[in-house]
Amino acid sequence: MSGIGSGGGGMSGNGQPRPGGFETLAIHAGQEPDPATGAVVPPIYQVSTYAQDGVGGLRAGYEYSRTANPTRAALEECLTALEGGSRALAFASGMAAEDCLLRTICRPGDHVLIPHDAYGGTYRLFDKVLTSWQVSYQPVPVSDPHAVKRALEQRPVRAVWVETPTNPLLSIVDITALAALCADAGALLVVDNTFASPYLQNPLALGADAVVHSTTKYLGGHSDVLGGALVVADPALGEQLAFQQNATGGVAGPFDAWLTLRGIRTLAVRMDRHSLNAARVADMLLAHPAVSGVLYPGLPSHPGHEIAAKQMRGYGGMVSFRVRAGEEAAVAICGRTRLFTLGESLGGVESLIEHPGRMTHASVAGSPLEVPGDLIRLSVGIESGDDLLEDLRFALS
Ligand SMILES: *Cc1c(COP(=O)(O)O)cnc(C)c1O
Repeated sequence: MSGIGSGGGGMSGNGQPRPGGFETLAIHAGQEPDPATGAVVPPIYQVSTYAQDGVGGLRAGYEYSRTANPTRAALEECLTALEGGSRALAFASGMAAEDCLLRTICRPGDHVLIPHDAYGGTYRLFDKVLTSWQVSYQPVPVSDPHAVKRALEQRPVRAVWVETPTNPLLSIVDITALAALCADAGALLVVDNTFASPYLQNPLALGADAVVHSTTKYLGGHSDVLGGALVVADPALGEQLAFQQNATGGVAGPFDAWLTLRGIRTLAVRMDRHSLNAARVADMLLAHPAVSGVLYPGLPSHPGHEIAAKQMRGYGGMVSFRVRAGEEAAVAICGRTRLFTLGESLGGVESLIEHPGRMTHASVAGSPLEVPGDLIRLSVGIESGDDLLEDLRFALS
């Protein structure tokens, strides 16, 4: 087991260079066989405290599991490697990660730009929690760099928060363009990379300062664990975040960290199949008479397709579409699928369907972030593609 804070920079514990392909890192980074027992998988260190050899004599750098735990450290080292950062921190949920980041980088009076169609929980955090600490926010159509530039010129901005692809409209943000604008304006660029996962997109390599994940989604991948993560390029910011995480305590528990790491080992093959199935679903929906529009960045007709092709290695498993017959028809379709389970969340091996307006995005109704009522969001799983198409055709008929 490697010690605290060892980065995933392509070196294994014994200093030998390690092959750095994504699939290899997903299986090996932070996951050398346990030196004590040879266990090939990092054990679940279900422990809160560690014996010291004399006062301050820590054996492997561990003193108390809120500060650091070997299972969590294994996950953090793996995430560092997969996102190409200098440090990653694992949290109890995506929201805990977001809260830690924002309370580390923002002070009363700071202003943050957020996406027009931000994840509902992110919007709620800004709107209902951070405003009482005098951190203000402003929704901006972040897929338009000119709109971001204008907003940055209006007043000092501490951070620009983006998701790409966005939820649930799947618009694409040009990370490279925004990174340049943020650098000029002295703002931090934060990318919520939950929808793409590090397999399809590495925002830090494109100039972002911090990456946020709800590991609950594709990284965990099996709808059986909640978790969140932050990955940053700058070691000094990493230190500040680690301090804040230890001070406020929203850490991932050992079993949750272990489950997430188990999911990550198959991330690459899962994402390939998610992307393949989603592309087939998008094509079928595009040709379907009941559908008025399909939002999938893999479609050449998608306004962000070219940027997605440039900054992503695949288009992912999320597909949204609008139905001609309107909101009530959309709600009815969500209740008629048999394989696509009606439910919130996304990124698991099983397919899910939901009505954002009444479910995940109900909290933004009446706000500038309101989503169309005829919109349906799919998290396309890795079941047989033919079965998924048949299920949707039936529900639409
Ligand atoms: C789910 C989600 C979150 C919040 O993560 P939790 O693990 O549910 O706290 C944040 N951003 C996006 C894009 C999400 O899908």
